[in-house]
Amino acid sequence: MASKPLTVLLVEDNPLYMRLIQRLLGRSEHPTFDVVTVETLAAALERLAKGGVDVVLLDLMLPDSMALDTFFRVRAQSAETPIIIQSSLDDVSLASRAVEGGAQDYLLKDRINSVSLLRSIHYAVERAHARGAEWHSAMFHLAQQQLLKAAYIAELDDNIRQRLLFPERAQIAALPFKRDKGDQVETVFAYRVQHVLSMGPTKGGIRYHPDVGLGEVAALAMLMTWKCALTNLPYGGAKGGVRVDPAALSQGELERLTRRYTSEFIGIIGPDKDVPAPDMGTDGQVMAWIMDTYSQHVGYAVPSVVTGKPIVLGGSLGRNEATGRGLVYLIEHACRSMDVNLNGGTAVVQGFGNVGAHTATFLAESGAKVVGVSDVGTALYNPQGLPIDKLQDYVREHRLLADCPFGEAITNRELLELDCDVLAPCALQNQITAENAGRLNCRILAEGANGPTTLEADEILKERGVFLLPDILANAGGVVVSYFEWVQGLQNLMWPLEEINERMRNILTDAMTRTQRRAEADKLDMRTAAMIEALNRVGAAHQLRGLFP
Ligand code: GLU
Repeated sequence: MASKPLTVLLVEDNPLYMRLIQRLLGRSEHPTFDVVTVETLAAALERLAKGGVDVVLLDLMLPDSMALDTFFRVRAQSAETPIIIQSSLDDVSLASRAVEGGAQDYLLKDRINSVSLLRSIHYAVERAHARGAEWHSAMFHLAQQQLLKAAYIAELDDNIRQRLLFPERAQIAALPFKRDKGDQVETVFAYRVQHVLSMGPTKGGIRYHPDVGLGEVAALAMLMTWKCALTNLPYGGAKGGVRVDPAALSQGELERLTRRYTSEFIGIIGPDKDVPAPDMGTDGQVMAWIMDTYSQHVGYAVPSVVTGKPIVLGGSLGRNEATGRGLVYLIEHACRSMDVNLNGGTAVVQGFGNVGAHTATFLAESGAKVVGVSDVGTALYNPQGLPIDKLQDYVREHRLLADCPFGEAITNRELLELDCDVLAPCALQNQITAENAGRLNCRILAEGANGPTTLEADEILKERGVFLLPDILANAGGVVVSYFEWVQGLQNLMWPLEEINERMRNILTDAMTRTQRRAEADKLDMRTAAMIEALNRVGAAHQLRGLFP
């Protein structure tokens, strides 16, 4: 099939390298390339302004522009055009920062050959195309950039890197369910994404939220892969989601929606295939309906098809509060290594769902003054410490913190900027950005939520010396106890709560120690160090299994 040539803008002032690229691209028959070469930034910007460029191969050191400035000016000129950085071994950190800033890929000049070049271009164009369509999501973009950055630093095998940038399997369904009134049928979009199938069954929650999309679910599935690998659990990552506001549904509607979700995805879930759990907007009751629907389908009770179940159905002690408990174990561990006294220290928690409320409770139990908490519409401040148990009672009765009398109402922005020892974002993604990172006033940032911090914000926090407990480590307590629940279910065992908590603490502190060791040895931030720990495990598993056929 003869397809249209791809227009490559090669921005390069080294004539030797320029000729090499032209020769390598000139040999390709599928696709063919129109290579436009320019030697300066000014000429590159002029050519980009005319449009029609499919991909930019960019050298960052040009006669009229240096380093990251080159990258940002090219990107500003044509934000949608994928950029591949051409880097030498001696400017690795520069290329890695360009990748953090949104470059699609990098190529090492010293190692370039026609296969790596063509593939990099192919994937960069494909990714730009995919992002523009269903995969489009700031969070997926962030997850891919985090992976690229870590892969670059860890020199991860090229084949594996390309494989991990997208999930192995993603299924979308348009789900119908009956509303309570009349004969109205609602159709909503639903997703289950399995990122890595090589490590064992896949594992990850199901999210019900009005903003859910394929890109977001894929990003969350990717984070699950890293979380499981970092804690040495025998799982790959998965995530599910339904684009719906659960607060607007009755129990009956939720049940019908959940049962239909289960039956749509029944072919790809199961105790040996993919094991869902609660996430934002879902809980033990939702897991009970999934377990029942699956069990009805196969004809006998299968508790291990989900985790986070109610205890009477084979749920594990400690699972409901595990994410918050694990987060506070790690905060305590961080405080010890930093000489911060949590007993009498101050903490702020954004989010008062399962993770936020439990985190606030356990922080208060360890003697910290929780001076600020928030939910989706309200943020509360009390310099003496908020009474967390009373807030829990209030939320049980009124569902939300609105009009709660136990603290002064402040804005979400003010909440994040409160002076405190520990700030725990336990709500949505994308909360700490380049815009507000410079104004945070915490010593430890403990990410109870998935993806709350952008890469640009990471850089700012690192410069400011804030100690980061990155999401894939910080909130892994949930999936660790899910693993215990699955293991107990498969063997019909019941472990006591003390044993569960102790085993979780050991797994989490071991992952944290390995992460800290790597961060110190290689002078990395904690997120990148944790990502590399995880990536090395996934990479090794891929290498050992080899590629079928
Ligand atoms: N949804 C939780 C998470 O993001 C837990 C997943 C699980 O337990 O499988 O980690």
